[in-house]
Amino acid sequence: MRLALVLVLLLTAALLAASFAWAEPLAPNELGRVLILEYHKIDYPEERWTRTPENFRRDLETLYARGYRLVGLNDLLDGRIALPAGTTPVVLTFDDSSPGQFRYLERDGALEIDPKSAVGILEAFARERPDFGRAATFYVLPGASPPNRLFNQPAHEGHKLRWLASRGYEIGNHTLWHANLGKYPEATVRAQLARAQQWIRRHVPDYRPRTLALPHGVYPKEVRWALEGSVNGETYRHDAIVMVAGGAAPSPFARRFDPVRLPRVQAVERELRDWLEHFARRPDDRFVSDGDPAVVTVPAGQRDRLRADLPKGLRVVER
Ligand SMILES: [Zn+2]
Repeated sequence: MRLALVLVLLLTAALLAASFAWAEPLAPNELGRVLILEYHKIDYPEERWTRTPENFRRDLETLYARGYRLVGLNDLLDGRIALPAGTTPVVLTFDDSSPGQFRYLERDGALEIDPKSAVGILEAFARERPDFGRAATFYVLPGASPPNRLFNQPAHEGHKLRWLASRGYEIGNHTLWHANLGKYPEATVRAQLARAQQWIRRHVPDYRPRTLALPHGVYPKEVRWALEGSVNGETYRHDAIVMVAGGAAPSPFARRFDPVRLPRVQAVERELRDWLEHFARRPDDRFVSDGDPAVVTVPAGQRDRLRADLPKGLRVVER
């Protein structure tokens, strides 16, 4: 009996210690890695390239509970990370402009965003948890066959793109119709990128897609074709290229950060869980904000891991 009591006490102590360790604020480390999550369809049933609306909502809840906060990819590229101390940036990306990402419903002659589409879920979550943030990049296909052409509601496609841009969401280039850029000569590669941008701009004048997601993750024979160019007066310039896989991305302040080869994590059940567990086990590998966007806080002795060309105006502090 006494033994049982001692065991119960020991177990309670262990659990308390564990919950304390969990609650302890994470030390800032702005050289840690960042998850750039990659979603495809938000629909039914759950499959390799499909996340259900409920599971997507649950992903947001899990991320929030574990101290992750949304930042836009463009802000990450610029090293503009304005998050509270102790939290970790996470980036959401959606490829292929499928209908479940952004759907309008007509009710009594008025349009409303389908609460079961990715945008509806994101907006609702941001209203409930304003401190989670509201940001995502949509890699759209303006010239694909249905249902992947600009979210598959032709009457509303322009309105959707303008609404995304006005709400601070990002629109990214994913080529005109998902061309495998490794298969084509320079002229075709450039035309795919310039024409995709031209279509986006037809709906959102002067909008510049700053990032490119490679269809099938395949680079063109020469990467410079994808970075900048001009076709029939349409000039494109991409500040970053995101891949379809590769794991967590290096910190935007790290020497290893390569905007031309930014890895992403596919947001499917298993991969997402594995990465969140990884960062729970290895908090030292995780980007943790210091709360001050003007300061880059790095662990003591790791200053040499910083990029030589840090964005202007940033001050480095070792902890
Ligand atoms: Zn794609």
